[in-house]
Amino acid sequence: MHSGIYDYLIVGAGLFGAVFAHQMKKYGKKCLVIDKRKHIGGNTYCENMEGINVHKYGPHIFHTNSKNIWDFVNSFVAFNRFTYSPMASYGGRLYNLPFNMNTFYQVWGVRTPEEVKNKIASQLTSSNLENPGNLEEQAISMVGQDLYEMFIKGYTRKQWGRPCNELPKSIIKRIPLRYTFDNNYFNDLYQGIPIGGYNVLLRGLLEGIEIKLDVDYFSNKSGLDGLADKTVFTGMIDEYFNYQFGKLEYRSLEFKHQIIEKENYQGDAVINYTAYDVPYTRIIEHKHFEFGRQKNTVVTHEFPQEHRKGMEAYYPINDSKNVERYNHYKKKAETEKNLIMGGRLAEYKYYNMDQVIASSLRIAKKELVKDGVVPLV
Ligand code: UDP
Repeated sequence: MHSGIYDYLIVGAGLFGAVFAHQMKKYGKKCLVIDKRKHIGGNTYCENMEGINVHKYGPHIFHTNSKNIWDFVNSFVAFNRFTYSPMASYGGRLYNLPFNMNTFYQVWGVRTPEEVKNKIASQLTSSNLENPGNLEEQAISMVGQDLYEMFIKGYTRKQWGRPCNELPKSIIKRIPLRYTFDNNYFNDLYQGIPIGGYNVLLRGLLEGIEIKLDVDYFSNKSGLDGLADKTVFTGMIDEYFNYQFGKLEYRSLEFKHQIIEKENYQGDAVINYTAYDVPYTRIIEHKHFEFGRQKNTVVTHEFPQEHRKGMEAYYPINDSKNVERYNHYKKKAETEKNLIMGGRLAEYKYYNMDQVIASSLRIAKKELVKDGVVPLV
């Protein structure tokens, strides 16, 4: 039974919404994508400044272990050979990230993996480090007290607005720890930046799909819902349900973009400032994502802050209190049969881009199987 003009109203033109719309269109479904912003792409959106693709909503580096997902994104745009290898700035010196033999050598002067392991072991004192219960314990058990103090304690406190012992250990497990001289921040098989920028990828995904920008879903929710059989919502799940189980916590960010009349400002795409007394967490120099040689450069200082209503949410804070609250929203969403929730904010998960795509492909497939459009394989 079709009630609306469209099969799907998709709220949010970010990666989740764009992938979902693309898959549905492929199988003859009619979608309308709306977004409150004036552009597509969600937080992957880049603005051209000085001929440089500026990551307006924070640095995005595509990486995945899935050949399927790599082939999928490469069917829209080719990727360059960018490998993320940010530096950490601490006490006026620079160190390699992620934590690897280069970092250990720079901090301790140790040359072999065995020396590093002994050094770390000598810094583990507390008995519960064998079974870490929070981010602080997890971090110390991985890299020892010295590196924790230099690179993790201050940065994490700035980034999350909470001390490390009040944060889930999953956050720090994102970062590889290696006993080789390898500064690649990711372990994934595939990595790169779309040639020409993320907008090329998002335009490819959304090709041939109706889009309405600068539309506030909540100001006309029932009118917009009425246009389609089902709504796919990719925003904050607590806002969708009018905060009825309480507000979920998120971290927000402020970005200060700046043009500098220099060809090369810092020599790396990202430098993390890990001390607590530096107010920003990192400086991004966008041209380096695409090996740019423009005359000028654009840099961005990233300032984390607590999210309040009306601000953009960037990171879910997946501690037990919030996850429990989220589960109430999730249950509630499952009772609404014409509603699909997906993406970092609607699923309240600290997803990387490839995980968002995987989730969208999975949910799209489930819909198509339910409709008998594609077989269950
Ligand atoms: N982190 C840190 N020091 C660093 C980089 C990261 O302590 O120099 C911690 C911090 O808690 C951060 C987490 O590791 O939130 C995950 O880092 P990642 O680089 O994955 O963060 P993202 O780029 O997603 O903000």
